[in-house]
This record gives sequence, C-alpha cells and structure tokens, in this order.
Amino acid sequence: MTERFDLAVVGAGMVGLATALAAARLGLRVVVVDRDSQANGASVRNFGFVTVTGQQRGDMWRRARRSRDVWCEVAAAAGIPVVHTGLWMFARRPESVAVLEAFQQTEMADGCRLLTPAEARWRCPAMPAPKALAVLESSLELRLESREAIPRVAAWLQQAHGVTFLRDTAVIEVAPPQVRTSRGMLRATRVAVCPGDDFNSLFAERLGTYRLTRCKLQMLRLADPGFRIPGALMSDLGLGRYPGYAELPQATALKSVLAREQAPHLENGVHLIVVQSADGSLVVGDSHHYSPTPDPFGHAGVDELILDEFRQALGFEPPRVLERWTGTYASAPDRQVLLDAPAPQVRVATVTTGAGASTGFALGEEIVNSFFDTGAVA
Ligand SMILES: Cc1cc2nc3c(=O)[nH]c(=O)nc-3n(C[C@H](O)[C@H](O)[C@H](O)COP(=O)(O)OP(=O)(O)OC[C@H]3O[C@@H](n4cnc5c(N)ncnc54)[C@H](O)[C@@H]3O)c2cc1C
Repeated sequence: MTERFDLAVVGAGMVGLATALAAARLGLRVVVVDRDSQANGASVRNFGFVTVTGQQRGDMWRRARRSRDVWCEVAAAAGIPVVHTGLWMFARRPESVAVLEAFQQTEMADGCRLLTPAEARWRCPAMPAPKALAVLESSLELRLESREAIPRVAAWLQQAHGVTFLRDTAVIEVAPPQVRTSRGMLRATRVAVCPGDDFNSLFAERLGTYRLTRCKLQMLRLADPGFRIPGALMSDLGLGRYPGYAELPQATALKSVLAREQAPHLENGVHLIVVQSADGSLVVGDSHHYSPTPDPFGHAGVDELILDEFRQALGFEPPRVLERWTGTYASAPDRQVLLDAPAPQVRVATVTTGAGASTGFALGEEIVNSFFDTGAVA
C-alpha cells in the first residue's frame, strides 16, 4: 500500500476502534490492521455492559462516564440498538446494604438511588420477588449486543469516517513510518498498538516489565425468562469485587462474610452479571481465573457456581442454558489501564481489567491526545 497514513492502529477490538474514532474526529487518515478476519477477541465475548457504577473511583469512573456518552453518540449515528439501560444491584445481606448506603454518600452515586424491596417490586412487577433487603438503581449503564455492535462500529468508521481496514493481516514490526505486516509494508507517521491480551507479538520485552497476565471468564446464555429485566442485574458478590464499592471502608465487613459463606465462589472469582438480549435471552456470568495461558475449557462446576448465585440473588430458577463460551482479557497487578510510549510516535495501550467496553472510548481519546501532548505518558 503506497498511501501514507497519519495513524496506524493495530487491533480492531474495542480499544483499537475507539482510537480510530478519536483520530478520525481530528481529521487524521487512519488505517486499522487486525490479524483476524472478523472480531473474535474480548470485545465480542463480553456482556456488552457499559458500566459506570462500581468502576474504580477517580480515573476509571471518569473514563466510564465519558465512554458512556461516546457510546450514546456512536450508537445513534451507527444505528446500534441500546438493548436496555441502567443497573439494579441486589443487596441480600445487611453488610451489603451498608456498602450501598456508603456508596450513596460518594460523588459516584450521581444518577443512583436506593430502592426498598417494595419499590423494586412496584417498578418491575413481572420479575419474581428477589430476596433483596435493598436495591441500588443506577440510570447510567447501557447494554449493547457486542457481537453485533462491534462489527457495526467498524463498518460505520469505514463508511462515515473513511477509516481503512486491513483484516487477516498480522502486524509483525512497528518502526514508524514503517509498519511491517504479514501482507507487506505499510507507511504511517504514528502507530497505536491496541493488542488486547497479546503481550508477545509486539514490544514483548517492554510489556514484560508490567507483569501482565490473562484472565479467563466463563459465560452463559440462558433462555428468555418470560419478562424484561429492569436493567443489568448484579448481586452481593459484585459489591465485594467491583472497586467502586469494594474499596469503600464499609466493604471490609461484607468481604469477611463472603469469605465465610461463599468461599467456592470467591476461589473461582465468581460474581453475577445478568443482561438481556433483544430476543429476551439472558447473558449471564462470570468467573475469573488468572494464567499467562488459561486453559480453553469451560468447567461445569464453575458454571454451577454462577447459576447458584443467580438463584440466591434473584430468587428464581435460572432458565435453560442455550450457549456457553469463554473469553480472556489482560490483567495487571497494579493498574487498570496500561498506556505506554515505547517510541515517540508509538503507543501501546490495553485495559488491564474487565472494563474495556466501559472505558475504551475515553482511553482511545487519551491515546490520540498523547501523540500531541508534550506531557509524558504514564
Ligand atoms: C467474557 C468477558 C466479559 C467481559 N465483560 C465486560 C463488560 O461487561 N464490560 C466491560 O466494560 N468490559 C468487559 N470485558 C472486558 C472487555 O471486553 C475488554 O476490556 C475489551 O474488549 C478489550 O478490548 P481490546 O480492544 O483491548 O481487546 P480485543 O477485543 O481482544 O482486541 C484486540 C485485537 O487485537 C488484535 N491483535 C493483537 N495483536 C495483533 C497483531 N500483532 N497484529 C494484528 N492484530 C493484532 C487481535 O486480533 C484482536 O482483534 C469482558 C471481557 C470478557 C472476556
């Protein structure tokens, strides 16, 4: 290809597409290169749950607020349905209610309120009465069908913003303005490497200093329960895991109770997220197992723990399982986002926790801005 691009993006997952959008909005000529013929990574295996409430206080929460706003713009422009909005966080223990009450006192509670069980029943009479003592209702979350939304974002970037896509093409070496691929050379002034959880193909030595690993998750699709859920559903285990709640001092007591009462769930990193698709089916997860090369197998015992939490939190029998799959994402011991500059015109970025669908658009803007800022990249 003889054309010289202003920016080459490696990776057509959420972070790569977000970076391409931010650059295209600045008027840059952008090419996105991906080794797969269609989206196949974390970005199409996730819940499509754009979560604000519960993200870590500070940068991640700010990124999630911004990304949610960009998702609203992109969904409208690209014709991507928002399947449902909002979140209901069910608290079934007094210690969980204490966490929610403390959360309500923070700046992160903007857009959230506590419902009594009676109010929750009144708001969603079709849903069997859960065993909750209280429900945190947030209006901020979005749910998209990722396996349809991500290809549509890519098609819209191509059509509406003139972004070039090269599929079935692995990037082998990055040295701007030269980018060596499995199908020949590209020319680009800048390169943003957004490799998801592939730490070994590009800048492996540099990425090695971040002590990265991979997290494997098990996911399920259940049959339509026969009613529309009022938003994404979560439970006590999420309060002990999501840093926006779990890092509040009031979460210490809850974590002790969970360690006593739900040790197998904690050992398998199980917590509950339930979202719904347009056909009524439910996407339910998940578990967290960490390894540089996680095994590719879905374990029945882990699925059972997820379904057990569904039963305990929501108070009704999980519908029939229609689909099972696993996915992986990048994980780091000391950060939720990695943005590095191995050379002046090169950036490497990945979300090192399970929040790329929720924070990716803001990270894309940070990546592009960092090429033009004089400040160092963290
Ligand atoms: C099961 C599951 C559930 C999740 N649920 C949620 C959720 O509800 N909400 C949320 O916010 N986040 C969630 N996440 C996390 C979120 O999906 C990820 O953080 C996000 O998708 C990461 O996007 P990415 O672009 O970095 O990675 P990916 O989507 O993995 O994309 C990386 C791309 O880079 C390409 N690539 C890598 N190296 C090269 C190379 N050298 N040359 C060419 N191409 C290359 C790969 O082929 C791939 O397409 C979940 C993740 C999983 C696995």
